[in-house]
Amino acid sequence: MENETDVFYRELPKVELHAHLNGSVSYQTIEKLIKRKPHLNIEHGMTAIDKGQRRTLDECFQVFKVIHQLVDTEEDILMVATDVIKEFAADGVKYLELRSTPREEKNTGMTKKSYVETVIKAIQQCKNEGVDIDVRFLVAIDRRNGTEVALETVKLAEEFMLSSDGLVVGLDLSGDPTVGHGKDLLPALQRAKNCGLKLSLHLSEVKSQLEESDLLLNLPPDRIGHGTFLHPEVGGSQSLVDKVLKNSIPLELCLTSNVKGQTVARYSEHHFKYWYERGHPSVICTDDKGVFSTDLSQEYQLAASTFGLSHEAVWKLSQQAIDCIFAPEAVKQQLKQKWTDVKPHVFK
Ligand code: 5GP
Repeated sequence: MENETDVFYRELPKVELHAHLNGSVSYQTIEKLIKRKPHLNIEHGMTAIDKGQRRTLDECFQVFKVIHQLVDTEEDILMVATDVIKEFAADGVKYLELRSTPREEKNTGMTKKSYVETVIKAIQQCKNEGVDIDVRFLVAIDRRNGTEVALETVKLAEEFMLSSDGLVVGLDLSGDPTVGHGKDLLPALQRAKNCGLKLSLHLSEVKSQLEESDLLLNLPPDRIGHGTFLHPEVGGSQSLVDKVLKNSIPLELCLTSNVKGQTVARYSEHHFKYWYERGHPSVICTDDKGVFSTDLSQEYQLAASTFGLSHEAVWKLSQQAIDCIFAPEAVKQQLKQKWTDVKPHVFK
């Protein structure tokens, strides 16, 4: 389907809520990074999973390690973030929440603080250039790194929430789901919630995490990443589903990522169907558009062709995503107005 997306999906105004910065780096940007660091001997096949290919989740996490080698200076982060923002804008995304794990690189002098500052700088530069997209940032906790680092990350996020003029709006919990346990991260997540950071947590991305998901759902989070194995039909439980429904917690759903990462066997079995049929807020997202060789227009078209959605239903799906954003109410109103303004053009 790549490069063949219908014009309707390209012109559809879209909201992207689940995009990891280093997973979103495009082929073109990887090319520039490889030129900057030829000594690493990194080739394209090591940074992306092409059409028709699949990898285990573990292999996907190896890909991030390769990309991290290529992106290890403030200069790299600035270029990567600027390119990613412009690419989302070119794909018709009007509101983007980027997420990224602050990294310290002793060799280059990059600190976690300068990492976040640089992402913010990229957002501001794009704004100053008049790129037509509203971008916010979620600071990510890599679950692999345990309690102390999680607490440090929350403090950093809190600091930037207060100083970034509304650009840092929340916290993401991600990283290899088979490593570590959510209970060790609860104090950090609770603190984040108490100080006003919004929470988007990767939950039940792999099987047999019922206990952890139950614990984390009690917070409750403001959004759920993936939630692949929450429902009883795939080994989850009705009580988990009930908690999600009771608090009306939106799900961020990434079709290509889940199929290429093999947590979902085929598109028709994606859990989008389960939640969408129940009228639950379900937001189509890319996860890692670079690594999984996709974009948001393709993901909408894929959802529509797999589940038989009309253009009107797809429109509603993209419009309803506005209610799930972490930016304040005034931003939601502006976006809703934008959707109303462009609708006649998209349905011309
Ligand atoms: P970064 O945080 O460096 O900008 O983006 C890459 C990181 O995002 C990965 O190292 C990993 O921690 C996280 N990530 C990206 N995609 C996924 C995913 O599908 N599942 C989980 N759990 N984490 C992910």
